[in-house]
Amino acid sequence: MKIAVIGTGYVGLVSGACFSAWGHHVVCIDTDKTRIDALNRGEVAVFEPGLTNLVESNLQSGRLQFTTDLKSAVHDIDIVFIAVGTPVSGYDGDADLSYVLKAAEQTASALRGPALIVTKSTVPVGTSERLETLMRSVRPGADFEVASNPDFLREGSAIADFNKPDRVVIGCDSDRARALLQTLYRPLVDAGVPMITTTRRSAELMKYAANAFLATKITFINEMADLCEKVGASIDEIAAGMGMDKRIGGAFLKAGPGYGGSCFPKDTTALLRTAQECGVSLRLVEETIASNTARKRTLGNRLKVLLGETLQFKTIAVLGLTFKAGTDDMRGAPSLTLIQALQSAGANVRAFDPRGMKNAHMLLRDVIFSSNPYECAEGADAIVLMTDWQSLRNLDFNRLGAAMKRRVLLDLRGVYDIDTLVNRYGFMVERVGHPAKRPLENSAIKFKRRLGYVPSRVEVRNGIRNFRDRSSTTIDTASVREGLDHE
Ligand code: NAD
Repeated sequence: MKIAVIGTGYVGLVSGACFSAWGHHVVCIDTDKTRIDALNRGEVAVFEPGLTNLVESNLQSGRLQFTTDLKSAVHDIDIVFIAVGTPVSGYDGDADLSYVLKAAEQTASALRGPALIVTKSTVPVGTSERLETLMRSVRPGADFEVASNPDFLREGSAIADFNKPDRVVIGCDSDRARALLQTLYRPLVDAGVPMITTTRRSAELMKYAANAFLATKITFINEMADLCEKVGASIDEIAAGMGMDKRIGGAFLKAGPGYGGSCFPKDTTALLRTAQECGVSLRLVEETIASNTARKRTLGNRLKVLLGETLQFKTIAVLGLTFKAGTDDMRGAPSLTLIQALQSAGANVRAFDPRGMKNAHMLLRDVIFSSNPYECAEGADAIVLMTDWQSLRNLDFNRLGAAMKRRVLLDLRGVYDIDTLVNRYGFMVERVGHPAKRPLENSAIKFKRRLGYVPSRVEVRNGIRNFRDRSSTTIDTASVREGLDHE
């Protein structure tokens, strides 16, 4: 088939590259000339594993092209996918459809033969009909139809998700459109991927319903994590037990700093807006948005509690900036909210991310960016782990601690072993969904300081960890026992 994809962001570029790898002739269009020029050189602006190789090989095969010239690209085409952004509208939380409408309008005026226009962008229910009306007003006699094919790919595993999705959803109101999309996706169906054919309205709403449900699931486990911290339970154990129930499932039960990214925040508010317009109350979605927003805004308070004082003039090292690991996407990242809160409280912020530094530079002010986690930790009063990149999971904590002013760590992704950090490396640790733990030495040092001793080392005698000071006096203290409770 001859396919045009409008928009070369995460969804458009992955879709275009994958369709061409399936053997179709694909032209990808974007208004961003710098991006298109780079793509024509085989350079991919976004970080998505495997995408550069896929683009390069299909460019070389001649099946994949990039242009800013929408008019000639959709001139003689079978299917036009619209994959432009649908950000949140500034004033009412609805989806901003201006890019979609513009793309549809431009397509209508450029069409010469019969074509199927398909929205891959996430658009509110009723948008297909709206596009059809708009396009008919531009080109009353043109032979085209509009269908919906929402995309469920995840940044970081987008190519795998595109080639092996959980399902393909095609929303069509005509047999001709349905038949064309069924032919396009036949390789996936032949490989066992379920295909759901629905009305256009159902397909459009399904995408929002799925994202709102996932956002709610994340929010639920985050609220449970808050409760765990108070009652001394472990959110990891609770999530593991819950996830084994097939009715619940284990995915999206990882407590963290709150959901972010380019989809969940905007899609939940757009869904709410649709419901409000129809006079329907979506209280769960409302509460999810409110709870998640409050969570992100109050992340900084955890540091205040940990450091036991004001954050003014404190240095906080933020490890991981992107909204999740595996992507360079900073849109809606919880790190942005945290850093803003820290700066408002008078803290100095240092930051490091394995892939998101370029985008972070554009969004953050007055942050000292570092080239690695150890440089980031230099002189820090505390470290916050915001994104669970693999490279941030396996750190040299001796080196990290030595660079810091105080060994305090807030693990908002629940990846570090608390006991190892506390007992082996002397960190004070708070891990999301677990009560905070102080190292034994800290409690003992505090106690000793109160007694006027200068401690030198801790020793274990008769199974009891005792505190030996420089004058070799052995003291058994309540604070030492408090430390033992943590082991
Ligand atoms: P993006 O912001 O990364 O990319 C959009 C691209 O469209 C930009 O390069 C922009 O220059 C281009 N564009 C805008 N108007 C144009 C026009 N008239 N003609 C040509 N190009 C134009 O967007 P994205 O993250 O790929 O998301 C696209 C859509 O897919 C959104 O509706 C989003 O909600 C949905 N979606 C995104 C994901 C995801 O993980 N990012 C997953 C599923 C669905």
